[in-house]
Amino acid sequence: MLLRNEWRDVLAREGLPVVQLAAGELVGDEPPCPACGTAAPLVEGACSDCGLVLER
Ligand SMILES: [Zn+2]
Repeated sequence: MLLRNEWRDVLAREGLPVVQLAAGELVGDEPPCPACGTAAPLVEGACSDCGLVLER
C-alpha cells in the first residue's frame, strides 16, 4: 500500500498521467486498429485483420 502510494506520488511529481502509463502496458508496442480494434503487427503497413492502411 505504502509503495503504491509512493509510486503514484512520483508519477504526479513528474507530471506523468497514471492512466496513460497503465494503458501503455496493456497495449504493448502495437496500437489497436481504429477500425476493428485489433492490436496486431501490421502487414505491409496495413491492419492484418481488416486491411486498413496504418502505415507509420
Ligand atoms: Zn483493423
